[in-house]
Amino acid sequence: MVLATQKDITPTLEPNALRVLEKRYLRRDRTGSIIESPAQMFRRVAGFVASAERGYNPKADVDGVADEFYRVMASLEFLPNSPTLLNAGTEAGQLASCFVLPVPDSLEETFDAVKYTAMIHKSGGGIGFNVSHIRPTGSAVGEHLDAAGGPVALIHVFAGAADYIRQGGVRRGCNSVVMSVTHPDILHFISAKSNPNTLTNFYNSVSVTDEFMARVRSGEDYTLVAPNTGEPVGKLNAAEVFNRIVDQAWFTGDPGLVFIDRINRDNPTPELGRLETITGCGEQALLPYESCNLGSINLAAMLKIENGSLCIDYERLGQLVPVAVRFLDDVIDVNRFPIPLVEQITRKTRKIGLGVMGFADMLIRLGVPYNSTKAIGIAEELMEFISRRAREASHQLAQERGVFPAWSGSIYEKRGLPMRNAACTTIAPTGTISIIAGVSSGIEPIFAAVFVRNILDGENLLEINPYFERVARERGFYTRELIEQLVTSNHLHIRKEVPEDVRKVFVTAHRVSPDWHVRIQAAFQRHIDNAVSKTVNFPKSATREDIARVFMMAFEQGLKGITVYRDQSRDLQPLCTSEEG
Ligand code: UDP
Repeated sequence: MVLATQKDITPTLEPNALRVLEKRYLRRDRTGSIIESPAQMFRRVAGFVASAERGYNPKADVDGVADEFYRVMASLEFLPNSPTLLNAGTEAGQLASCFVLPVPDSLEETFDAVKYTAMIHKSGGGIGFNVSHIRPTGSAVGEHLDAAGGPVALIHVFAGAADYIRQGGVRRGCNSVVMSVTHPDILHFISAKSNPNTLTNFYNSVSVTDEFMARVRSGEDYTLVAPNTGEPVGKLNAAEVFNRIVDQAWFTGDPGLVFIDRINRDNPTPELGRLETITGCGEQALLPYESCNLGSINLAAMLKIENGSLCIDYERLGQLVPVAVRFLDDVIDVNRFPIPLVEQITRKTRKIGLGVMGFADMLIRLGVPYNSTKAIGIAEELMEFISRRAREASHQLAQERGVFPAWSGSIYEKRGLPMRNAACTTIAPTGTISIIAGVSSGIEPIFAAVFVRNILDGENLLEINPYFERVARERGFYTRELIEQLVTSNHLHIRKEVPEDVRKVFVTAHRVSPDWHVRIQAAFQRHIDNAVSKTVNFPKSATREDIARVFMMAFEQGLKGITVYRDQSRDLQPLCTSEEG
């Protein structure tokens, strides 16, 4: 498992990465003074996670494994999700990012879920909810006719709890709420965020079946069903409902769509129940109470020079994947779960979410535009390779440690394939860990070559894409004036002093057409066990028809869900500089 030769790699961090770590991640004493360096943080995480090895073998070389874990993190080749970096070896001890909580149609259980929401947010996790089981607004409650507040009112209850708990001052919990398109309150749900400043940390998605999508095409009606009685209570026209979703998404980016049949075709443990919702940023479909810890490989670091040109270092990648899988599997054993129910189901399925970040940076370094057939080919080849290696590694762990406890009855039992983890791969947003690694986030295109990043409670940090800076200096078009102008307007594509090949390769999220966004997402999705967190960007001038077409395309291309964002349609944009500003 030895990847690097040096035992004590010192992390080389960009100034912005250091700021993020200092502000949020490095441990402090009671007076608020920072008491660990980034290297010590990675040592703390590596040592704590590797301690899981002792549970399998009292004579395990825990220090050796810890060294390996340290090396892959300190070299910024692999980073686990934020809760692991923050909480490993601390009193909090909660290491996973993703949770799903059931919301049953009972007051007592619902308010249990509100309590669990507070506990999970406090521990640094995001949550997926499904409000489809809640009886419609105005239904009877006991002897009181017309008393039910309905699912949308309930989302506000969860939002209130979420706002109250600010994840221990670390970050806000991201939440995703799904409602089935057959719920009688569906129209209310679709417009629940028509004021984009409400429910800001809740992303709503409508769960649609293949049958519903077929009816959208044929213009037929479909039946609304009351979840509490199972009775049909009316009909709506599928195309009209679809257009309402499109209108609202055009307006505020919300709701998105979740293709629930597609998700369940990939359900690895159907005997444990159907998957009904997706987690905080859409990267996972989990069972009620299930959680998942994530980790991402930095693709920009997986390149090497061969015969004088840069290419993907599959040898290094092939060595790294099993280390990452072992790390994520160990995390499950040392995680301090916030709720016993979460612990039970998570230990049964042992899902892990290995993904990637820095995809766009990798393409830039290879000189390949994001919006090109070549990029699709690279995405397919890479993810196929990573997924295959991850499964092999999980299979290997199953030989050493046993299969995941819910393996009997799973799809893997049917295939005769012992596996340690019911799911291995995911594409996470990597919002913070990509800043720590100093690379583009997840599989998103770069936002801009130069921009001001709004992070850390309103602090603004200038960020110049390091590859852009290098190319600009090497090819002699780097000027202060260019950088200053690029910060205020994201107009690299029309800057005459920048050579055309450079402009093509540094294509930004707004210049990538929505179709290419979907194609790249689909290329990754084809090789991912779980889902892909990705936003499909539209220019401000996009029409409703553009959004409708892309929703249909997402369905046809086999995505598990789709999230869109039209430039300037929401007040709170995570990054400054605008395409049309
Ligand atoms: N998440 C959250 N609040 C945040 C960012 C993330 O609750 O401010 C949760 C959410 O469930 C999301 C998951 O963490 O789906 C992973 O997000 P990301 O990859 O951006 O996290 P990172 O590990 O980079 O901090």
